[in-house]
Amino acid sequence: MVKLDETLTMLKELTDAKGIPGNEREVREVMRKYIEPFADEITNDGLGSLIAKKVGKEGGPKIMVAGHLDEVGFMITQIDDKGFLRFQPVGGWWGQVMLAQRVTIVTRKGDVTGIIGSKPPHILSAEARKKPVEIKDMFIDIGASSREEATEWGIRPGDMVVPYFEFTVMNNEKMLLAKAWDNRIGCAIAIDVLRQLKGVDHPNVVYGVGNVQEEVGLRGAKTATYKIQPDIGFAVDVGIAGDTPGISEREAMSKMGKGPQVVVYDASLVAHKGLRDLVTDTADELNIPYQFESIPGGGTDAGSIHLTHNGVPAMAITIATRYIHSHAAMLHRDDYENAVKLIVEVIKRLDRETVDKITFE
Ligand SMILES: [Zn+2]
Repeated sequence: MVKLDETLTMLKELTDAKGIPGNEREVREVMRKYIEPFADEITNDGLGSLIAKKVGKEGGPKIMVAGHLDEVGFMITQIDDKGFLRFQPVGGWWGQVMLAQRVTIVTRKGDVTGIIGSKPPHILSAEARKKPVEIKDMFIDIGASSREEATEWGIRPGDMVVPYFEFTVMNNEKMLLAKAWDNRIGCAIAIDVLRQLKGVDHPNVVYGVGNVQEEVGLRGAKTATYKIQPDIGFAVDVGIAGDTPGISEREAMSKMGKGPQVVVYDASLVAHKGLRDLVTDTADELNIPYQFESIPGGGTDAGSIHLTHNGVPAMAITIATRYIHSHAAMLHRDDYENAVKLIVEVIKRLDRETVDKITFE
């Protein structure tokens, strides 16, 4: 077991925290603890997004750097008379990654461990083995013997269900395996951007933000952006790594460890051209690695940020991550550190004149 340094300790606490859309309190508290020392003021929007403000110069351009607090998970909908739980996925899940996985149900009386039940192969016909089980037919087993017992343990419809996974530093210590990298790595980037701007002279007001409810449609980003009214917006999130067997370069080009992803296009946003050029020029100048990415089948909070108020020049910078939207995902520590460095350097180059110039490019 690797001894966790300060950064890894923060990443473990962020990813261990439990929070599906609409249930982000625990994650918000961890993010708040880590970002507070570097912020001048902490506020929130009406949905619970965390907004940490750091003034470089009062009245300067407002730069928003936003991760999202929520993770994909499930919600209890019914308890059957035998004590098995029915549930609703919250966020995008593929059924094939769900069976036989351990989950935690967060109740008013504390956490309850469960497992998504599956049939042993012994009783599956040859035909059944070829067919994926549909999510609507799955159930969670908490070892209760009746509805009354499950209820007695605190289970109620509406309770959140969160994947369970131990934060793990792999043999290659740059490779980190954890639940909820989507999007606690974005929260970590927002924290570290404020941390690294400490004592740095720049004429901007920087907001490190943890949006709520991204996974159900980029919702908290709307309300947080409305409150901040930024001049420039960055969404920081996970992206797809295409460097595992069975993924073609046409599906996903990016590789772990080859630098943060500059997302030029996704289903929610055309990256703002002026801003995108500033980002890649800065990276080229400082030899910070990066990879271009386009995700026609996905979106990030930048999709909501750029459509708020009169419109906000925005883009997404993402970390190539394997196995997102499952129990555990893997990313490379260098990509995270380079993303922080790149955003900090871009902020140092921003002032009113530059913001006006790139806005109309
Ligand atoms: Zn996601």
